[in-house]
Amino acid sequence: MQKILNYVNGAFTEPSSGSFLDNCDPATGTVYSILPDSESADVDVAVRAAQEAFPAWSALTRKERSDSLMRVSQRIRERQQEFAEAESVDNGKPLWLTNEVDIPRASENFRFFATAILHQSSEMHDTDGRYINYTLRQPIGVAGCISPWNLPLYLFTWKIAPALAAGNTVVAKPSEITPMTAFLLSQVLDEVEFPKGVLNIVHGLGGKVGARLTAHPDVPVISFTGGTETGKTIARTAAPMFKKLSLELGGKNPNIVFDDCDMEAALRTSLLSSFANQGQICLCGSRMYVQKGIYEEFREHLVAIVRKMKVGDPKDPGSKLGAVVSEAHFQKILGYIELAKEEGGTVLCGGKEAETDLGGWFIEPTIIEGLDEKCRTNREEIFGPVVTIQPFETEEEVLRLANGTPYGLAATVWTSDLSRAHRVAAKLHVGIVWLNCWLIRDLRTPFGGVKQSGVGREGGWEALRFFTEPKNVCLPVG
Ligand code: NDP
Repeated sequence: MQKILNYVNGAFTEPSSGSFLDNCDPATGTVYSILPDSESADVDVAVRAAQEAFPAWSALTRKERSDSLMRVSQRIRERQQEFAEAESVDNGKPLWLTNEVDIPRASENFRFFATAILHQSSEMHDTDGRYINYTLRQPIGVAGCISPWNLPLYLFTWKIAPALAAGNTVVAKPSEITPMTAFLLSQVLDEVEFPKGVLNIVHGLGGKVGARLTAHPDVPVISFTGGTETGKTIARTAAPMFKKLSLELGGKNPNIVFDDCDMEAALRTSLLSSFANQGQICLCGSRMYVQKGIYEEFREHLVAIVRKMKVGDPKDPGSKLGAVVSEAHFQKILGYIELAKEEGGTVLCGGKEAETDLGGWFIEPTIIEGLDEKCRTNREEIFGPVVTIQPFETEEEVLRLANGTPYGLAATVWTSDLSRAHRVAAKLHVGIVWLNCWLIRDLRTPFGGVKQSGVGREGGWEALRFFTEPKNVCLPVG
């Protein structure tokens, strides 16, 4: 059985408690590795190592930091297949997906920020020719990075790479449910002789490792991606300590289909936006609103295709969906399907465990009809292969429905009316809008949500700004 270790100050270390947690393969439901059940003391040692590494790392030239990050990116590429297999086993998602998306994007995160830092500039303000103000963008210190299980290495590196590129050192905690590729990353750090103490990875439970990292007085900046409730806990701890905080939280994203859309494109992409990664992407569209004129036709086509989607072995290239991440999550999703029925919903397809002979946690892609906007099914994040579908008549009505949840992460709109597309995009209460497409990622764009979907933005300059402190310097001219 594989044993995952922490990576602190350039060394693989056992947790101080000597205790380990079980790590399951969601496709078989069996324990296949163990990971450190780390304590506050392990976080404290990692923070000290990061503090000690900070002066030297932050004093490197941009080119030197960039070179170090490029080596990490390159080595992940070289070990692509191994990383992809590990991510698929650890998370339950199809291997083709980890090969095509998760691992290339993780490698790309390092490459993107390694090169971005070479092009970063800061502002200068000329005060009427009499004074010059220039802004220094200085690294902050030790950054705490906490990430979830749905896109394990991809989201982990999405935080770590800009933090390091900007000159901070990092203590990072991957999700306890999917720790394997973070462990492989620590092997990569070792292989490329990444400077000791600059990136420390501490495994364990959120309530212990994550909580200590958030509360640690020597970690002035926290970047967190995860559930809204955890985000609230972190904000409660961090706010009175005046920490810099970025929170990327849950979503309940609308997918709006107007009757003048390209129906074939809307159908094809809605399959992905509803069920990719078993619906476990914060950007998945979980509420589908289809305009009355095409509602029945769209629904019939969609249901017919979804019924044919193969759920099964993540290693099988034909599997469109793999397993959901854990037994607890499997039960939670099935519980929401029951709730939807109690609330009066009609299950059009799916609605139950998918039968496989693997023994793990598989759920059929599920479409539910007949629920109004007030019910819990349409307001709470399910984070599984479950979507609701409902008709609407007017633009005003669908905007009210779309904006009617506590969340505000992303939205998708399908229409061939350009004016309407821009008008609706401007009125949606979200951080990200896709018009006639979905999940097109450009690493330079601001990424994040409003309302209970989070605070702050990741991506591009936003991330590099977040991980630096601006300092204005003013001097007279002449
Ligand atoms: P959680 O909030 O449960 O966990 C996220 C991370 O926080 C994990 O590493 C977890 O540790 C840790 N954690 C748990 N409790 C604490 C605590 N008290 N203090 C500090 N850290 C803690 O989210 P999930 O892992 O279940 O991920 C799914 C959620 O993530 C969904 O709501 C999804 O929408 C959201 N998400 C948001 C994205 C966005 O960009 N807006 C992108 C992707 C996902 P552990 O699990 O190891 O105990």
